[in-house]
Amino acid sequence: MSAPLTTTKHSVLPSFEEARRIVETYAASLIPTRRDKVSLLDAAGLALGEELRADRDFPPFPRATRDGFAVRAADVASAPARLKCIGEIRAGAASDQSRITVGKGECVEIMTGAPVPVGADAVVMVEHTERSGDVISVQRTASSAENVVAAGAEARQGDVMVRRGTRVNHVVAAVAAAIGRPEVFVHRRPRVAILATGDEVIDVNLTPGPNEIRNSNSYSLAAQVYAAGGEPMILPVARDEPDELALLLRKGLEADLLLITGGVSMGKYDLVEQVLASFEAKMFFTGAQIQPGRPVVFGEVEAEGDKTPFFGLPGNPVSTMVTFALFARPVLDALAGARPAPLPFAQALLQSEITTKPGLTRFLPAALGGNRHRPEVELLRWQGSGDLMAAARANCYIVVPPDRERFAAGEAVTILMI
Ligand code: AMP
Ligand code: MG
Repeated sequence: MSAPLTTTKHSVLPSFEEARRIVETYAASLIPTRRDKVSLLDAAGLALGEELRADRDFPPFPRATRDGFAVRAADVASAPARLKCIGEIRAGAASDQSRITVGKGECVEIMTGAPVPVGADAVVMVEHTERSGDVISVQRTASSAENVVAAGAEARQGDVMVRRGTRVNHVVAAVAAAIGRPEVFVHRRPRVAILATGDEVIDVNLTPGPNEIRNSNSYSLAAQVYAAGGEPMILPVARDEPDELALLLRKGLEADLLLITGGVSMGKYDLVEQVLASFEAKMFFTGAQIQPGRPVVFGEVEAEGDKTPFFGLPGNPVSTMVTFALFARPVLDALAGARPAPLPFAQALLQSEITTKPGLTRFLPAALGGNRHRPEVELLRWQGSGDLMAAARANCYIVVPPDRERFAAGEAVTILMI
């Protein structure tokens, strides 16, 4: 890594914004995984490895957007107007059918999605007409281009419709299908090793002893990784013991990205940083002024010319989720070939007062409700960053900046969508 990244081990911890910038700068230097051609159905969630261009004009013909009558607008400049219906054009009409020409005083019955015939330049909705045999009485005036989308108005043949690096979602899938691409180039899912640590942490299949905790972090991370276009690889839980940790960290560093949970706080058995230091890891930050997730670690290990980024995420379940979203996600996006996505911030009105201690940027579990006129957000009662059950009731986090101690009910606050 080049210039702007410095270690912060003995200096003041970076703010949320500074830590995020460090991650984004690093992410911008990464080379995405190889690209493969895959079926459109398998492409969802992955980043496009090519741009999608229109194979023809969209729409390819002047498209009626209503069921009704194709008319010459000049003929219906005043209403009511009487026109002679000379035929019918349905969607998918054979081209000889759409070759009808609408002359002065004439109209053609037309369906939504059908080509507007030559001569006509507007469509009058069927609701605004009365029919008696071939005679159509148009009750309302229409202007030129009304209810018609001109050929090529949406895109011209050859136009870029979706840029490279865009994630394939339902809209991109629709565009790919519309331009005749049952297969597209996407970047391969980067392999993301997930290593949970902790003597008290046991596998989900085991029955916990009275002081043991089931490993939930590996599963929350696997879900977040998969949703971000990565291939999660869950490693066995590491005991808080240097040799075992070293072995599993080595294994994890074979992946494109390593996520470690737990063992990065100040406790006597928080050994992750120490073991990574023995690998000559470069640390970009070891902590950030945030809550939850203050001990979060970001660095890189170089082995045989290959650099593997890693995050040490604090083990409290909510800390793990939040720090993944805030910091690991941009790195995963970049490896997955996706253009960097901004964090999904929004604004809502506080339902009840909040008071906190200043100094940290806080991400507090909250419930967004209200309606489109008045989006409202309520802080959830929680027992701190170990309170997974509060996170399960939340649909967003309220973001409290480090210089605020109090927000009054009714104030607008920033929220981060989950
Ligand atoms: P640590 O970051 O190792 O100090 O752990 C902080 C808290 O998170 C402790 O209460 C741990 O028991 C809990 N914890 C650590 N790892 C996990 C995990 N994989 N799943 C669930 N809870 C965990
Ligand atoms: Mg621990």
